[in-house]
Amino acid sequence: MISYWNKPAETMERAEMTQLQTGRLKEIVARLYRQQPFYRSKMQAEGLLPEDVNTLEDITKLPFTTKQDMRDNYPYGLFTVPMSEIVRVHASSGTTGRPTVVGYTKRDIGIWSEVAARALVSAGLSKQSCIQIAYGYGLFTGGLGIHYGAELLGASVIPISSGNTARQINLMKDFGTTALACTPSYALYIAEAMREMGVEPKDTSLKVGIFGAEPWSERMRQEIEAQLEIKAIDIYGLSEIIGPGVAVECPVQDGLHINEDHFYPEIINPLTGEVLPDGEKGELVISTLTKEGMPMIRYRTRDLTVLHREKCDCGRTLVRMSKVLGRSDDMLIIRGVNVFPSQVESVLLSFGETSPHYQLIVDRKDNLDQLTVLIEVTDAMFSDEVRGLEVLEAKIKAELASVLNVSATVRLVGSKTIERSEGKAKRVVDRRNL
Ligand SMILES: [Zn+2]
Repeated sequence: MISYWNKPAETMERAEMTQLQTGRLKEIVARLYRQQPFYRSKMQAEGLLPEDVNTLEDITKLPFTTKQDMRDNYPYGLFTVPMSEIVRVHASSGTTGRPTVVGYTKRDIGIWSEVAARALVSAGLSKQSCIQIAYGYGLFTGGLGIHYGAELLGASVIPISSGNTARQINLMKDFGTTALACTPSYALYIAEAMREMGVEPKDTSLKVGIFGAEPWSERMRQEIEAQLEIKAIDIYGLSEIIGPGVAVECPVQDGLHINEDHFYPEIINPLTGEVLPDGEKGELVISTLTKEGMPMIRYRTRDLTVLHREKCDCGRTLVRMSKVLGRSDDMLIIRGVNVFPSQVESVLLSFGETSPHYQLIVDRKDNLDQLTVLIEVTDAMFSDEVRGLEVLEAKIKAELASVLNVSATVRLVGSKTIERSEGKAKRVVDRRNL
């Protein structure tokens, strides 16, 4: 049986959705022009007035908003309401440059909880579920976003946050956790720690995982589903737009339905900014249609995906985006060839002997880029004869060369050599000083 949190919104006819989106877009553009000096001056620079936006297609007249715009207006410059109306502030970690800050009104928190609840129901959760939220709480939106959605749904929430993996596993068993929410790399880490502790999936009540906040491949899904014996559902979101709940997979697991009554998606060529038709791969751009605290018009997410509008077997009419295929700014250019960590991941996971832990190291020697891929193998494999390792290395090297169109040095290393992450995994070390 298929359940929805908000059936009218999730199964709306296209004509009705277009009408709703158009009305909301016109309203938000008019509000930004009136109340937001940053957007007003950007529109004025293009000679645009709110009246110039009458249809959804007219959105392409509006300029993009970028992470740099957020940094330039740090901390509160893009807020559209007085601070007295802001009830919550979140911020990115700011590992490169100033953190990006976002603000929510009471109504924004309500919408966020609504879309997060839709996501959890789409993943198969109900009031009966017991969800362990192992995303970080705090300024990061992962923890609190899922938390509010789960409480709205009426599930039992275990707000454990990330880290302390042994305790995660013990509580999972003792509390009867049925759903786990965290990054996919942390889910694998938990699976590994479970094996070391002698805890088997059947010792827990875990049925489903809601994983997001970093791109992960179909292969990695298979790995997580096999190791934890659960269904692994992909959830998508980013703090700049609202947080987790922008889009989520349904039980069909063939793309993520975007909550497009609140978030209007476009796909562009990341190099030219040109809008691409459905079915073509490019960068996802999102406009918020209902946000009050900090609306975003045409925000460049840097996430690469494809939009599909075919009818979904789950009955939702919401447009689907493919699993994120990488980030336009994570893309490595090695000797002129575009390389995404996710491509490497798919290759590695097709070899049974390797573990899902890997790292790409890029160096430049004599003006030539060198790509080294570190891959962990199981201890049994590593203590095996050298000959076996060499054969495996050669096989992976050949497969990588054919998928990436660039040659890489492959180094097999023992288990636990590559640093583990309780949040987003560090897949790339670029030492080129570009
Ligand atoms: Zn569906």
